[in-house]
Amino acid sequence: MNTEQTKKCRECQSDIPKKARRCPNCRAKQGIGAGGALVAIIFVGIVASIVMSPSENSTPKQPANMSAIQAGLDEYAEGRWLDTQLANNDDGILIRITVDTEVAINDVAATSYCNVIGDNLRQNAPDHVRDADVFIYQFGEVVKVCTY
Ligand SMILES: [Zn+2]
Repeated sequence: MNTEQTKKCRECQSDIPKKARRCPNCRAKQGIGAGGALVAIIFVGIVASIVMSPSENSTPKQPANMSAIQAGLDEYAEGRWLDTQLANNDDGILIRITVDTEVAINDVAATSYCNVIGDNLRQNAPDHVRDADVFIYQFGEVVKVCTY
């Protein structure tokens, strides 16, 4: 058999057509071979570098105005039995709202909290709204996660 047209099965070592995806003798799957695998790895690497490299014309984020956010949260929490905690790190803004009432809040109330906090973020940290993780707690459990 002409070796240009054949390859060895990776399972049974018999000569099989080069383009065969399965061995006609043992039915073993032949895969893409070492050369194909290398090409695939390089291709994945190129795609990953394109996807993961930050866009060069993306504008740097403005620092979040954390004191303004906190002031807004304090004002919002006043008289509503809410305890707010605010944190800022490289991953974004983290806000925990603990609703300190004995009656479980419903989803409508939780959503309105999310909306108020979203307005606060858009006003005081517009570049960080989508980085904000806002969790509403009650009875020690997260009852709502706000997404913006
Ligand atoms: Zn085989």
